[in-house]
Amino acid sequence: MWDTVAGVAPRPSTTPVLIRSRLIEAPHGFPTREGGVSGGPFASLNTSASVGDAPASVAQNLARLTAAFGRDPEQLVTAHQVHGTAVLEATAAGQGVLGEGDAVFTGARGLLVGVRTADCLPILIEDRKTGLVAAVHAGWRGVIGEIVLRALERLVEHGADVKELRVAIGPCIQACCFEVDGDLPERFSAAFGSGVVKAQPGRARVHLDLAWAVGRSLSRAGVPASHVDALPHCTHCDDRFFSHRRERGVTGRQLSLIQCGRDTSL
Ligand SMILES: [Zn+2]
Repeated sequence: MWDTVAGVAPRPSTTPVLIRSRLIEAPHGFPTREGGVSGGPFASLNTSASVGDAPASVAQNLARLTAAFGRDPEQLVTAHQVHGTAVLEATAAGQGVLGEGDAVFTGARGLLVGVRTADCLPILIEDRKTGLVAAVHAGWRGVIGEIVLRALERLVEHGADVKELRVAIGPCIQACCFEVDGDLPERFSAAFGSGVVKAQPGRARVHLDLAWAVGRSLSRAGVPASHVDALPHCTHCDDRFFSHRRERGVTGRQLSLIQCGRDTSL
């Protein structure tokens, strides 16, 4: 519902809204669903061509999003996400969608790498030493598979220093809304400690805190706690975001992005 001023409904934003982390110096952003051209369940900044949205709308949304970085879609490289733990390297503009993988990193200046999410965790990483950047997609499978550490390993292979990394965990389904059942509570407790299970007032079922689990993985790997920024936004609570669970599977995807190379104009 729109707030109205003098009986005139304000126009929806035509510019993507990017949420940024105070820790990351490289140009980056976690978008809301605002500022795109898609309609219906994909309104409006859907960035996935495989959820039923019109391809022309998705292309226009990607153009708007990359334009916010002073780039065009040619300079954006993503992966075909499969809830696995493969980490892919983007080396040049025009690569588009790499093969199957859930993390993309690059050291190519000016290149944007990104991951699509709608409740899963978008994780953006920069290494202050080398300038390498990475975008990681992690649902619960990726969190327990510690894809974030697989990405760290690749960055370190390329000269990154774990102590110089900065990590931002973007809007995702938070513990308030991530109810689980079956053996997941036991598996997560065994992997990360009992702190990953969060009791919620008035809720009988178990809730997991996936962002907390990622923080635990990073801490064990030697990333200082002060270098990890877990943003508070819950995609399920907050309807500014696409949420796979809230919308029962019919929804769009946010594309979180990070660009290699500092740019003081942003
Ligand atoms: Zn929530």
